[in-house]
Amino acid sequence: MSSKDGNNGSGNRSSELKFDTRLLHFGSEVDAATGASSVPLYQASTFHHEDIFNPPQHDYTRSGNPTRQALEDYIALLEGGTNGYAFPSGMAAISAAFMLFSAGDHLIVTEDVYGGTYRLLTGILNRFGLEASFVDMTKIEEVKAALRPNTKGIYIETPSNPTLKITDIAALAAWSKEQGLISMVDNTFMTPYYQRPIELGIDIVLHSATKFLGGHSDVLAGLAVSANESLGRQLKYLQNGLGSVLGVQDSWLLMRGMKTLSARMAHSEISARRLAEWLDSRSDITAVYYPGLKDHPGREIQEQQSAGYGAVVSFDVGSGDRAKQVLNAVKLPIVAVSLGAVESILSYPAMMSHASMPAEVRLERGITDGLLRFSVGLEDVEDLIADLEQALAQA
Ligand SMILES: *Cc1c(COP(=O)(O)O)cnc(C)c1O
Repeated sequence: MSSKDGNNGSGNRSSELKFDTRLLHFGSEVDAATGASSVPLYQASTFHHEDIFNPPQHDYTRSGNPTRQALEDYIALLEGGTNGYAFPSGMAAISAAFMLFSAGDHLIVTEDVYGGTYRLLTGILNRFGLEASFVDMTKIEEVKAALRPNTKGIYIETPSNPTLKITDIAALAAWSKEQGLISMVDNTFMTPYYQRPIELGIDIVLHSATKFLGGHSDVLAGLAVSANESLGRQLKYLQNGLGSVLGVQDSWLLMRGMKTLSARMAHSEISARRLAEWLDSRSDITAVYYPGLKDHPGREIQEQQSAGYGAVVSFDVGSGDRAKQVLNAVKLPIVAVSLGAVESILSYPAMMSHASMPAEVRLERGITDGLLRFSVGLEDVEDLIADLEQALAQA
């Protein structure tokens, strides 16, 4: 099978295989020309026209490149969509999706959406007349109440960041269809290993592939997948028109990372559950946010729409001073923004991802000065717990 089959994730043999098998047998795992065991790097910007009347499949790398195409087919297959597109960052993919809309259109957006998405909507696209309302999507009535005559789309992030609130994807996808809206889900935290929004009725799935899909903190990338060919063509038009394409080397590196997605997610999630339970049992931790905990308000919906709870655990150590002391005292996780890597990453939302949010808005959303976010990697979880224990003891 070669990528000549077109940018179509479904309809080939691979789509009948189980997810773990599809990760390794996605159609371009073997180079059709040479049998090489990985997709070749087509490090070329342009393609020779052997016969001017019969142009090659790819003519210019902004419009299409065989290495990038293999990645695009790969993510479409994993998400169960028709078309996939690769962008130079998650924000580039999200930007392209928002360009489907026009001046005067209105979007309904998850209240605690990723900071960069919030900035894009409130600091950039608002200047072009795209309106957005931010609502608590755990309350469907609030979403419905936000509908306006000019509402054209709904943008969901679940679990949300960093307090891991869960939105009912299928319920909102169905309502969105009734209203004729384009529905989008940022699936970065769950990945298609756990959650496939297109199967729940969503139109477009977006990813910061910088996180779990890449998985090694070494590549910045974004992906978009459409549920149908018509939206796929529109996304392709935008990707090419905006010139927002993932480079050839990064496309290759991302595929390299994605092959181990199942193994990484499964391992990290077992550890994340253990870590969340350990944190939950401590009296000096004032709150633990993890959809796998018994008392998490979104647990039931999470279990309906997702095959797991993911590898991100947020918790409150009680105060900003204590949080800073813990950050300085941990030895194993890297203290950094980002998540979803082989190494554990400990983040401080109040001073990192959500620093630009006004303090009162931040506090309203539960992003207190004592809140830490732990993205659990592949270390032995008992070592991670021992490390956190010594850091908490010092603080
Ligand atoms: C990181 C992230 C983004 C932005 O992705 P980049 O690759 O950094 O541009 C979008 N959504 C979520 C949920 C993220 O975690």
